[in-house]
Amino acid sequence: MPRPIQARIHTEALAHNLARARAAAPEARVWAIVKANAYGHGIERVFEGLRGADGFALLDLEEAQRVRALGWRGPILLLEGVFELRDLELCSRLDLWHAVHCDEQIDMLATHKTNVPHRVFLKMNSGMNRLGFTPERYRSAWTRLNALPQVDEISLMTHFSDADGARGVAEQMAVFTTVTQDLPGERSLSNSAATLRQSEALSDWVRPGIAIYGSAPDYPEHSSADWGLQPTMTLSAKIIGTQTLSVGDSVGYGSTFVTEQPMRIGVVACGYADGYPRICPSGTPVLVGGVRSRTVGRVSMDMITVDLSAVPEAGFGSEVTLWGNAANGAVLGIDEVARCAGTVGYELMCALAQRVPVVVAA
Ligand SMILES: *Cc1c(COP(=O)(O)O)cnc(C)c1O
Repeated sequence: MPRPIQARIHTEALAHNLARARAAAPEARVWAIVKANAYGHGIERVFEGLRGADGFALLDLEEAQRVRALGWRGPILLLEGVFELRDLELCSRLDLWHAVHCDEQIDMLATHKTNVPHRVFLKMNSGMNRLGFTPERYRSAWTRLNALPQVDEISLMTHFSDADGARGVAEQMAVFTTVTQDLPGERSLSNSAATLRQSEALSDWVRPGIAIYGSAPDYPEHSSADWGLQPTMTLSAKIIGTQTLSVGDSVGYGSTFVTEQPMRIGVVACGYADGYPRICPSGTPVLVGGVRSRTVGRVSMDMITVDLSAVPEAGFGSEVTLWGNAANGAVLGIDEVARCAGTVGYELMCALAQRVPVVVAA
């Protein structure tokens, strides 16, 4: 038998969350963001649930090939564009649309030999200061691109730094709108947070990622339930041993947890080598047989230990949900666990380890 740990990908939840994103931006077309192997879910595993999207957006050419191999003939967008000249050949061959964010990418396009002009998304750095042309240089980049025979339609894009927070998108929107006012082309602005929260930022193409994977982009201000999102990944494992402890007993490496009353604990077949964050302190929530409980002691490589006080019937073989859905319908949001680890749901999903067997569920 393999170790009793498993991740489940929920196809219907993916479709549901995609529909939620669409409902938040009813006029827009929707890029389903599937970078980082679909936020750790696996591109092939999410494809069925997300095939209702208008296009798939990602970073990696190898991942774009995998989307084409699944039979997808619709739009695919490379969010960071190309990294070297020969990537453009693959763009021509696979009909990939690509971002253009720097002069070097325009230089490459100018030397690219293609019979089919490319659809490009010209990216503005409207304040985040990661990728993109500054507002001052944006129009000259557009003019240069527009003059190239290698370029077909030019769409306009930018990315928000604070769509999930108090600062919001107003400043960046103002910059983008001012500079692009009289330029033709479709616009793409909004990530998940902007799509859900900032109706003024809606555009021709929205770009939700985390929301379609069922995590709230602005947790804890809103939970995934507040946004009507459902978990798309469940990580669960079984109890492989139990211990009955007296007052003053300690648990795990470093004896960081010491009992204040007698308690029974369960040892769960999931550790940091499975992608469960080692930094999660005692008290991180788990579901034991669908009942809310907590971790005790340090996370080790292959195991965590959980409090069984609230679930006397639990024992060897009982199901423990680390995040996602329990069999009894209870839900433990990945955002809650991520917060205990001082991070965000994105990182936990993306860090699901190779050794965890993954199944696709309905
Ligand atoms: C990752 C990414 C997104 C999606 O962001 P979420 O916060 O996951 O919705 C959108 N646009 C770009 C350019 C990205 O890189």
